Amino acid sequence: REQRNKMPTYPGLERYQILEKMGDGAFSNVYKAIDKMTQEKVAIKVVRKKELNHSQEKHLHRDMKKKPRAIERSNIIKEVQIMRQLKQPSIVSLLSFSESQDYYYLVLELMEGGELFHQIVKLTYFSENLARHVIVQVAEGIRYLHEEKGVVHRDIKPENLLFEPIPIVPSKNPPPFPGPNDEPKEDEGEFIPGVGGGGIGKVKIADFGLSKIVWDEQTMTPCGTVGYTAPEIVKDERYSKSVDMWALGCVLYTMLCGFPPFYDESIPELTEKVARGQYTFLSPWWDPISDSSKDLISNLLTVDPEKRFTINQFFEHPWVKNEHEKPIPNA
Ligand code: ADP
Ligand code: MG
Repeated sequence: REQRNKMPTYPGLERYQILEKMGDGAFSNVYKAIDKMTQEKVAIKVVRKKELNHSQEKHLHRDMKKKPRAIERSNIIKEVQIMRQLKQPSIVSLLSFSESQDYYYLVLELMEGGELFHQIVKLTYFSENLARHVIVQVAEGIRYLHEEKGVVHRDIKPENLLFEPIPIVPSKNPPPFPGPNDEPKEDEGEFIPGVGGGGIGKVKIADFGLSKIVWDEQTMTPCGTVGYTAPEIVKDERYSKSVDMWALGCVLYTMLCGFPPFYDESIPELTEKVARGQYTFLSPWWDPISDSSKDLISNLLTVDPEKRFTINQFFEHPWVKNEHEKPIPNA
């Protein structure tokens, strides 16, 4: 039997010492690790090639044992191929990729703070300044993907947005931690996000497992090929970038109030609410939040993808342009 705190070893990863688990999903485990030679800290996403190991398989009904569903090799290769083309401050970078008999390994830039999701849970909700500090960085990543790379992420959510904590700055009078209780300080211009409390520094987009390269909007051609693609695919992909903009609206909404715009315990009900774009700025939680932020959210959570804000319209919105943040010292 395996010991509780013992870190697993993986063939082919001998170069790294695995330190702790940072996250897991159905197919992947993500570990914090250190390169034994260079002392560089990294994150390693370990993806099982087979869904189940043998001990898990024993407990299954025999009909399910026949085909242990293998991870589609093409999927992980696609994730890697897309990530290799990306280099931008708001995108988690892929440092290397390798595989063993049973696993794929994605060595990634480490984001020490972990998921934005946990930070929302921890703070309950964000001040408008902190929310702006975060969403602008995410949007810069999306602008790079959409405008420069023709990539749609398709899985933007707080679990896939990672951050670096701000190192605590020694100061006799540290500014207050930007949490739920701080009022937007419109006139002071004193806001320094997170300083003094290990708050949120850099924010980056992770998890390109569902991402896709889409059509060029002007020429309506995919990267490389022309001519043989069916109309329903062309129509489909014309609006595919807008799925990231919807998700951006959901993330912004959730940061500002602490709960998501669409929720229902019943999945069919939830699906219906999303399909109709049925959400509200629920009182009393939304009462103190600015009309400008609500206007921006409304333009992102617009059901018609043709009318929904694009990434460039996002950056033109007054709530986004309202930059009374000071740059982070030493960053
Ligand atoms: P999955 O496809 O299983 O969702 P992700 O790439 O989203 O895989 O990784 C799963 C989780 O692992 C993330 O939600 C996050 O908690 C953690 N994680 C992933 N990449 C990193 C990273 N570079 N730094 C820190 N934590 C990470
Ligand atoms: Mg994920």
